Amino acid sequence: MARLLLWDIDGTLVNAGNVAAEVFDQAFEEVTGIRPAERVRMSGKTDPQIATEYLEMYGLVDQSELLERIMELLARNLANQQALIAEHGEVLPGVAELLVHLSCEDSVTQSLLTGNILPNAYVKLAAFGIDHYFDYEIGAYGSDDIDRTKLVPIALERSRRLRDRHYAPDDVWIIGDSENDLRCARAGGVRCLLVATGRSSVVELRGFGGEVVVESLRDVDAILEVLAR
Ligand SMILES: [Mg+2]
Repeated sequence: MARLLLWDIDGTLVNAGNVAAEVFDQAFEEVTGIRPAERVRMSGKTDPQIATEYLEMYGLVDQSELLERIMELLARNLANQQALIAEHGEVLPGVAELLVHLSCEDSVTQSLLTGNILPNAYVKLAAFGIDHYFDYEIGAYGSDDIDRTKLVPIALERSRRLRDRHYAPDDVWIIGDSENDLRCARAGGVRCLLVATGRSSVVELRGFGGEVVVESLRDVDAILEVLAR
């Protein structure tokens, strides 16, 4: 049976360390002249949503050109920090093995559904050498919509238009680490595997209503079995 797997990045495939948060601070400061005094919670949010929350913090939310410039700098600055991401971050347990197994399955297509803007999604995965497993063109990103719950239909439309692949809702899995990943899956009517390697524990993820929740992706055989259901 055909499967489309839409992976989240941060907390699910990789832990990119604090580099991305620092890059946000830098971009915000370069554009507004203000060094953010505190950080917004980033988990499960889109990059433009995070930047908007920073702008709100300083009463600058009406200035959409600021948002655009922050996004540009975010992409440029993160690309410059790729070596630091590799140094301070990690691929999460089981991920490397799982990606290899799934890439050998002809019926499985792997792409991304992430709050990262597309260039940053690529930079983070390339930092760890796991960038070649994903069909980027059919993914959906923070650069496509500030509202993450709008992203599943975007990915499905791209699959149809660019690959002539028509997936039934049960053939599509979101794999993520946050309540927002679950919200995306619900909004898009697709399935959701949640993994507690990000900011939320198994208990919290179950509390959000996640039906398939695992501690980590370490047990590759068990995960493959879940995704084939
Ligand atoms: Mg995440």
